[in-house]
Amino acid sequence: MGKIAAIVLAAGQGKRMNSDIHKQYLLIKDKPVLYYSLQAFEQSEVDKVILVTGKEEIAYCEQEIVCKYGFSKVEKIVGGGKERYHSVYEGLKALQDDTEYVLIHDGARPMLTEAIIHDTIEAVQTYKACVVGMPVKDTIKITDENRFALETPNRANVWAVQTPQAFSYDIVWKAYSELMANEIPVTDDAMVVETFLQYPVKLIKGSYQNIKITTLEDLLVAEAFLDSQSTDSLIEK
Ligand code: C5P
Repeated sequence: MGKIAAIVLAAGQGKRMNSDIHKQYLLIKDKPVLYYSLQAFEQSEVDKVILVTGKEEIAYCEQEIVCKYGFSKVEKIVGGGKERYHSVYEGLKALQDDTEYVLIHDGARPMLTEAIIHDTIEAVQTYKACVVGMPVKDTIKITDENRFALETPNRANVWAVQTPQAFSYDIVWKAYSELMANEIPVTDDAMVVETFLQYPVKLIKGSYQNIKITTLEDLLVAEAFLDSQSTDSLIEK
């Protein structure tokens, strides 16, 4: 049987953060943002992890994250590209041997849990293409270029997507190869599979806590979530 792999993306510049340190290395409760999702994968059913980071940050990641915290499932650290989808493609190239399923995850989402990973693996084995997300809480408006409301989609069918986004390796490799031959702006992995293969992508529930760290406020929110988890475990005892 082929292996289940994860690609953890940490090659972004985090321009919206207003910090000299890239957001994946900022600390939440004394550990780098990137630590938390790597730790979730380390404890999960995933067989191996490819970490994608900036070309100049490979040595730093190796020493200060992978070795320091003993992430034995990280098989390779590879350099990413200009856009997120270039980084994903570098990760996929590093998995060409025996991978059956691949989970693509933003290293900037530290609140990933083993339960979300487990549900994602179950869903990808059934549907071959699935993404984690949550139904939106707000009403969403589609606007025209002058910001007048054009449409109000039925909220019950509107989801905000998160990561992991998981696929059969063959499907996602084919879709990304087509994207690289014919680049268009894409904002998530499912869009690549939808656009180039018209393959149906199943949405499954992640968690409202599975936020992406984008601005400094998000670090405080993630810290509060982590604090509430440790309080929960104290209460359970
Ligand atoms: O910038 P954004 O928040 O959309 O990035 C989402 C994830 O993709 C982050 O974990 C970031 O490190 C990663 N990324 C990447 N390569 C890029 C841009 C973003 O690995 N060129």
